[in-house]
Amino acid sequence: MTCIFCNIDKERIILENEDAFAVYDVFPVSKGHMLVIPKKHIKNYFDADEQTKTHLWKLVDECKEMADNIFAPQGYNIGINCGEAAGQTVMHLHIHLIPRYKGDIENPRGGVRGVIPDKRIY
Ligand code: 5GP
Ligand code: ZN
Repeated sequence: MTCIFCNIDKERIILENEDAFAVYDVFPVSKGHMLVIPKKHIKNYFDADEQTKTHLWKLVDECKEMADNIFAPQGYNIGINCGEAAGQTVMHLHIHLIPRYKGDIENPRGGVRGVIPDKRIY
């Protein structure tokens, strides 16, 4: 199967550096949801080399600055789904940068703990 992130339309890239690029998620969970993706086809975060990881996280910070300026959210969730069991559907590493807005859900307590919905609120 062809990899969608290896074949992304260059015009959709919003920011990039030597090893990584960022695009808006086509099915955003919130306004400004971005994906930070290595240029190399790496399946899993834990398979990435140190230089790639460094460039991925640098780009996450730059995307955050950009999202602050454009969308002015009050918070963020940052997440990586590693493996099918953890919910990964596109098998090319990507970091989700998800802007959060006061009142976007009734009680945001627990944030990323919501990967197991019943355990989000503790
Ligand atoms: P995963 O579940 O693998 O962590 O996340 C895959 C993400 O890729 C989902 O949030 C989904 O909305 C997004 N996505 C799926 N297809 C495309 C696409 O063609 N372009 C972009 N930009 N995002 C995509
Ligand atoms: Zn790929």
